[in-house]
Amino acid sequence: MNAYTPLISRERLTAWRRLFHRHAETGMAEFWTTARLAEELTALGLSPVVGERVSAAEARMGVPDGEILDAARRRAKREGASRPWLERMNGVTGLVADLRPDLPLHTVLRFDIDAVDVQESLRESHLPYREGFASLHEGICHACGHDGHIAMGLGLAHELAARQTELKHNVRLLFQPGEEGCRGARAMAAAGWLEGARHVLAAHIGMWADEDRSLVCGAQGFLATTKFDVEFAGRAAHAGAEPQKGANSLLAAASAALNMHALPRHGEGDSRVTVGRLEAGSGRNTIPASASMACETRGATSAVNDYMFEHCRAILEHTAAMYEQRCRIRLMGGSESASSDESMIRVVREAALSMPWFRPELVRDTAPGFGSDDACVHMAAVQRQGGDAAYLMLGSRLAAGHHSPDFDFNEDVLPPAVELLAKIVLSLDAC
Ligand SMILES: [Zn+2]
Ligand SMILES: [Zn+2]
Repeated sequence: MNAYTPLISRERLTAWRRLFHRHAETGMAEFWTTARLAEELTALGLSPVVGERVSAAEARMGVPDGEILDAARRRAKREGASRPWLERMNGVTGLVADLRPDLPLHTVLRFDIDAVDVQESLRESHLPYREGFASLHEGICHACGHDGHIAMGLGLAHELAARQTELKHNVRLLFQPGEEGCRGARAMAAAGWLEGARHVLAAHIGMWADEDRSLVCGAQGFLATTKFDVEFAGRAAHAGAEPQKGANSLLAAASAALNMHALPRHGEGDSRVTVGRLEAGSGRNTIPASASMACETRGATSAVNDYMFEHCRAILEHTAAMYEQRCRIRLMGGSESASSDESMIRVVREAALSMPWFRPELVRDTAPGFGSDDACVHMAAVQRQGGDAAYLMLGSRLAAGHHSPDFDFNEDVLPPAVELLAKIVLSLDAC
């Protein structure tokens, strides 16, 4: 492993990170990003797969309305996205690239590519603004570090493409849309991209590794989650003259929200429930005839999360009956729970300690998950078929917390991140 010499330069990785940072796009609308990735990977001699084959249509969740997608696609065109690739994508974002499609699949890596609905800081103290690569798009920015993940994925593709003939197995790179809100993974897994894989890796900059040169080899215990929207439809009526003729959606939603938050908890692990948004009614003197809510449940295991979600569903349906409502529940996203395997943690640790970048005292075997991440869908899929998984946290000092307007990571992490992933992949490939 020591004989490994990185080929990709820091300048190249930084340039990619900054380019994708400027063109930040939110989940399932990553048109510019996907088209550019396809061009970069094709230039390496790879044959990226885009379009409907990337994501199983029946498993796609939380896809924005057609108008929003059309606007994002038009914007991507204006910003110079490749027309042929946009056409081939046919409205579906994300991409899959195989290093050796002629060989059996061995290792899969997930790189998430979406940005967050956050207005980026436009202050001199914020490096992306000061250096002129702040997001071009109002209200959207890479405030979670996925721009760095894209650069890492491209860097790894370069490293592996140069060593293609040495590979004994196929290595697959998943450039996944819609990680935020846990929307993209399930549909990619349902399309079969993990079938036959023996190892799967995901990596995130920062999280609980917020010091330069630190590393968490394999996070444990990400929460399973279900994201869902609820709509109540009741009946409007004059609030003074004949309120008895109304069916009050506001009361239904309010009652359901309180009862969901009052659910008894599960003895087998942590659980969460949040009604994060509730809107209802049309005016002071009308019985409210509509209400909508954005909700989520989480659980230490998929079973605990399912328990929370199924009980929320029961509360919503029974509350609807009580208040004479029609109730529609729409799944908007979801993930399983998963943990990294000891076997993979050992491989990650060994590779990290062979590099001077990582400080041994800052290399931790494990840390708790950072909320939920739908990389767990890929991890659980591979674990179910007898393989193993790891979720790495790549250490970087952070200018501010994830998802905040001033979020930024130290670009110094990019070259060692690529080297680490390449070393892990090559060591897995050799056994
Ligand atoms: Zn995030
Ligand atoms: Zn993230």
